[in-house]
Amino acid sequence: MTAELTGLSIAALRDGYAKKSFSPVEVVDAYVAAVDGAKALNAYVATTPDRARADAKASEERISAGTARPLEGIPLGIKDLFATEGVHTQAASHILDGFKPFYESTITARLFGDGATMLGKLNMDEFAMGSSNETSFYGPVVNPWRAGGGSSNAALVPGGSSGGSSAAVAANLCAGATATDTGGSIRQPAAFTGTVGIKPTYGRCSRWGTVAFASSLDQAGPIARTVRDAAIMLRSMAGFDPKDSTSADIPVPDYEAAIGRGMKGKRIGIPKEYRVDGMPEEIEALWAKGRAMLADAGAELVDISLPHTKYALPAYYIVAPAEASSNLARYDGVRYGLRVPGRDVISMYENTRAAGFGTEVKRRIMIGTYVLSAGYYDAYYLRAQKVRTLIKRDFETVFADGIDAILTPATPSSAFGVGEMSKASPIEMYLNDIFTVTANMAGLPAMAVPAGLDGRQLPLGLQLIGRPFEEETLFAAAQVIEDAAGTFSPKRWW
Ligand code: GLN
Repeated sequence: MTAELTGLSIAALRDGYAKKSFSPVEVVDAYVAAVDGAKALNAYVATTPDRARADAKASEERISAGTARPLEGIPLGIKDLFATEGVHTQAASHILDGFKPFYESTITARLFGDGATMLGKLNMDEFAMGSSNETSFYGPVVNPWRAGGGSSNAALVPGGSSGGSSAAVAANLCAGATATDTGGSIRQPAAFTGTVGIKPTYGRCSRWGTVAFASSLDQAGPIARTVRDAAIMLRSMAGFDPKDSTSADIPVPDYEAAIGRGMKGKRIGIPKEYRVDGMPEEIEALWAKGRAMLADAGAELVDISLPHTKYALPAYYIVAPAEASSNLARYDGVRYGLRVPGRDVISMYENTRAAGFGTEVKRRIMIGTYVLSAGYYDAYYLRAQKVRTLIKRDFETVFADGIDAILTPATPSSAFGVGEMSKASPIEMYLNDIFTVTANMAGLPAMAVPAGLDGRQLPLGLQLIGRPFEEETLFAAAQVIEDAAGTFSPKRWW
């Protein structure tokens, strides 16, 4: 029974609670046991079982009283990037040692306000910088998937930066998880673990109380086991927040209602620039399969061109570090977390930052301060911003031509080995984001949905990119793919 409970989708939990088939306390107990038994995955950096049990009791009463809220009794994992009042919040960094915020992020406040509870904080790349969850101060997260359907012993990465979120969802260590995406950190980990992830339109979800990486790109979203679960979660997470000046005052639709709308009358663009050199044949084949699934559901497939795609990755790796270097200036040993003393205040800053930040974060700060420096601002930062406008225009042009959504592969490969890319050059790692960064640069909603397994029996995902604030089209299309491809879960070995 216990393992069965943790295997249920959010939608199934909601139905089961309504029918009184089981209670939130039983479900939380099952999850707490599952989390305890999965230390080998290193998905959680802090757990809050007592709070989850207390919340579950309160949810039980609400369900009995007939006053259940949309996420009543749903146990979630929360990425360590979200400020949670009184609970460990360190963005998986040493520099935030011991930081427990006295405020709650808007995203978590909304989820908890809708009845969800928290099992704990999830591991991630330090300050959300990475594609493999290997830059965490707490060490790498291990993907619950293994090659050969579990026959290999080699540890794989769960993607990043939301690697704790993707691993925990795939391994049934929470019913769903919060995540964030600055250049692909929801979609790439979802693709690597056979889970569903959506980065909504920039402005859809409040950034208030989420540790900032690159403010013009950062967006929160859910990672879940099914398209429907992602829709349920996003509905609670999204919405206007006066505390975030970039938050959009646009009504949030019932995303769940979009599921099952099918693809009749929809025009799906297939961008030729995503057919990159050296792309494995399996990815190409998966993409073709996805096209067939959408066409079978009534979509019209249209070849399109997004000519500036090839500049997106280099431009992203200027804009994101520039904003990061500015955002991370606040970690100085005075206000938060770690302080390493020095002979004066300047050396205290230096000592704290030298000891508190990991290598990747330091690299980004150095690139960022360089491209923003007086002599290089025009040549790098300003030019990257211009490229960003061109990328955005490419999308605007195809949408003006009547394209409703765009289908691409989510990643150029399936999950790679722990250590495999981090030991190569950072550029190799950055290339992982080749299909995902464009949506962040243009502020568009984008979703990853599992669509099949590769020859190593590892999950592969497809990406759907939509028009601004039209996440519903993505949910409808993703459900078509899920219906055709099925859902995927790893064989338990941990
Ligand atoms: N992998 C990308 C980076 O390292 C994206 C990270 C993210 O989306 N947070 O910047």
